[in-house]
Amino acid sequence: MRIFSGIRASGDKTLGNYSGGFRQYATTQEQGEAFFCIVDLHSITTTHEPEALRESTLSLAAMLFATNLDPERSTVFAQSHVRAHAEAAWLLGSVTSFGELRRMTHFKDRSEQQEFVSAGLFAYPVLMAGDILLYGTDIVPVGDDQRQHVELTRDIAERFNSRYGETFVVPRGVYPEEGARIKNLQEPERLMSTSAGNPQGVVRMIDEPDVIRKKFKTAVTDSGREVRHDPEPKPGISNLLEIMSVASGKSVPVLEARYDGAGYGEFKTDVGEAVIELFAPIQERYRELRADEGELRRLLGLGAEKARQASAPTLTAMYDRMGFVR
Ligand code: ATP
Ligand code: MG
Repeated sequence: MRIFSGIRASGDKTLGNYSGGFRQYATTQEQGEAFFCIVDLHSITTTHEPEALRESTLSLAAMLFATNLDPERSTVFAQSHVRAHAEAAWLLGSVTSFGELRRMTHFKDRSEQQEFVSAGLFAYPVLMAGDILLYGTDIVPVGDDQRQHVELTRDIAERFNSRYGETFVVPRGVYPEEGARIKNLQEPERLMSTSAGNPQGVVRMIDEPDVIRKKFKTAVTDSGREVRHDPEPKPGISNLLEIMSVASGKSVPVLEARYDGAGYGEFKTDVGEAVIELFAPIQERYRELRADEGELRRLLGLGAEKARQASAPTLTAMYDRMGFVR
């Protein structure tokens, strides 16, 4: 089985990314041949600083290895190192409609936050479709916010296959049961994101323990006193329950029973401590890996070589079937 997932090089990754991304990568790499891509070409779809892009690419590489991706087993690489991605995006643009892209809620949300809405921001789901399809991917482990893009990828694959002949495997998204949509601790109606929302409600994977503790202590809760999972009336507590489930490995019902009769204060303190404990060993490995830039570049080089080999036959088939003279 082939597994592919991409993650944007954009600032310090969050507890949301851990839950929908890193955590799933480490478990799915055991199930087959896995490709994890630092999607640096996606990073330039919103305004970016060149120096910050370099920094986030390297720090993201360190974080991927710190969360247990094994470079011997999985292919971890940067998108811009493999030209096939940019080429596939152009070719697939011809089998994607303007109407489909205009319907993407991600684009609607993001474009509202930008002063300058780039053409790249609009077209980015096509680049993402190419990322996935180039590797004959069967499953795509992602968070729930990527569901619409994975569905579009499937539509693009089917359309290409029916116009030009069977070329692509039609991939399937895989979403975690708990924690597929971690919310901002200050704005529980809004997704926790690397690059938007109240920063006090965004828990970063490299936050110091005291910072994490404080973010959970000040997390917004709901009226009432019961620690119960019921997202409509209790978005804050439901979010904290999901976070506790991700951090402790216990199911939401087990946690509800454990905190039956306890106050919000005790519960929030415990969630903070569980997250600190979860991230402590990751942070330690991260600091070691990040300090050795030469080694990170070497590992990314190895990943790029493997990714180039794995994607080349698909790109060639795309050009052939579309009628390009080769
Ligand atoms: P950016 O704001 O730069 O887009 P991001 O936080 O949205 O950053 P991505 O790199 O776009 O992060 O996403 C990486 C992975 O993390 C994806 O699989 C995405 O679905 C997942 N993810 C992002 N935010 C959350 C969240 N709040 N809860 C669960 N999964 C999430
Ligand atoms: Mg994102």
